[in-house]
Amino acid sequence: MNDAAELRDRTRELLASHPPAHTGRLDFLRARFDAGLAWVHYPEGLGGLGAPRSLQAVVDSGLEAAGAPDNDPRRIGIGLGMAAPTILRYGTEEQKRQYLRPLWTGEEVWCQLFSEPGAGSDLAALGTRAVRDGEGWRVNGQKVWTSSAHLARWAILIARTDPDVPKHQGITYFICDMTDPGVEVRPLRQITGEAEFNEVFLTDVRIPDSRRLGDVGDGWRVAQTTLMNERVSIGGMRIPREGGMIGPVAKTWRERPELRTHDLHQRLLRLWVEAEVARLTGERLRQQLVAGQPGPEGSGMKLAFARLNQEISGLEVELLGEEGLLYDDWTMRRPELVDFTGREAGYRYLRSKGNSIEGGTSEVLLNIVAERVLGLPPEPRTDKDVAWKDLAR
Ligand SMILES: Cc1cc2nc3c(=O)[nH]c(=O)nc-3n(C[C@H](O)[C@H](O)[C@H](O)COP(=O)(O)OP(=O)(O)OC[C@H]3O[C@@H](n4cnc5c(N)ncnc54)[C@H](O)[C@@H]3O)c2cc1C
Repeated sequence: MNDAAELRDRTRELLASHPPAHTGRLDFLRARFDAGLAWVHYPEGLGGLGAPRSLQAVVDSGLEAAGAPDNDPRRIGIGLGMAAPTILRYGTEEQKRQYLRPLWTGEEVWCQLFSEPGAGSDLAALGTRAVRDGEGWRVNGQKVWTSSAHLARWAILIARTDPDVPKHQGITYFICDMTDPGVEVRPLRQITGEAEFNEVFLTDVRIPDSRRLGDVGDGWRVAQTTLMNERVSIGGMRIPREGGMIGPVAKTWRERPELRTHDLHQRLLRLWVEAEVARLTGERLRQQLVAGQPGPEGSGMKLAFARLNQEISGLEVELLGEEGLLYDDWTMRRPELVDFTGREAGYRYLRSKGNSIEGGTSEVLLNIVAERVLGLPPEPRTDKDVAWKDLAR
């Protein structure tokens, strides 16, 4: 299936058999998945048709024009952007069939149980233990900064299964049921006042072996697929011109001439151009992705996205003067999604501070770009050949 005309036909057939005006949202999304029009580059039977990824736009525009509902991708970003590509690459046929459909329709939200209090940038040092227990595994440990854990049905989890080998080798990748009684989710309040993320305590959580993703001890390799896709999904989102953080500040500039100064004008122009360059680079990155797996380029995009968001939101607060310091709501909320442009300047300013931490800090991403894009010598690593249990902690 390579053909835009055929995809248009299939889109029309879906709309005829399930007219959006007379079909429930979930029924429509399930029918779309079953018709292979969810993510056309996925295999047949798993929401796709094995078509080139670039043809997705043909389907999306046809459905949008007909007023069809979408799957609210921002609400289920971790599932779509990270869990799904990892399941597709490493999952068994049974796992793919069980998880991908409700993930795509948004019936089941996913979260990511990777970071720990003692393992963030140095993720491979993680200490959550998974021990063989009959036919499955028993997991104990603590994870932290887990976005959407309070909404999630499932989590992608990495845990240590062999402490006697060097840290990268003794990790295994699992799918964890967030409704298991051993899973305790506690909110963590952020600088914005909201609690998007959580700490998650895992106490004797039983995971059947059928929820292992990839081989025992191969979890670090499996996690690379997740992490590379994470950077692409954070830094490489498709946005229209002036669609990101630059939008609100450009609007204020146009509508409030009394706030303008020469100095702010120069900065706004520079940031507008940089935002546009980043947007177009994101388009190019997506085209490269059509050809294969995401590479370290995603790290470059994520770096640019974090720096620009912080500079632009800083400029916006400065432009607004006293108004920029107002903050509408300090009550602890548990938002379903992060909406940068739906709130006031102060929120954007505070929330964008996390952009250079989440999905890998900017310092760590600079190391990745240095090593894997520029070919510079790697950082000295003295713990590569030491068993995890003998590492200083
Ligand atoms: C909004 C938000 C959402 C998040 N959501 C999730 C989630 O859903 N799931 C999840 O698992 N995690 C999540 N995280 C966690 C995030 O991935 C980690 O915070 C991040 O990887 C950094 O780890 P750390 O906080 O332990 O900091 P550390 O690793 O302790 O880093 C501290 C400082 O040291 C610097 N540093 C560390 N190593 C190096 C190095 N080699 N070279 C140079 N500098 C270095 C860092 O850049 C940083 O400035 C989220 C974080 C945020 C802010």
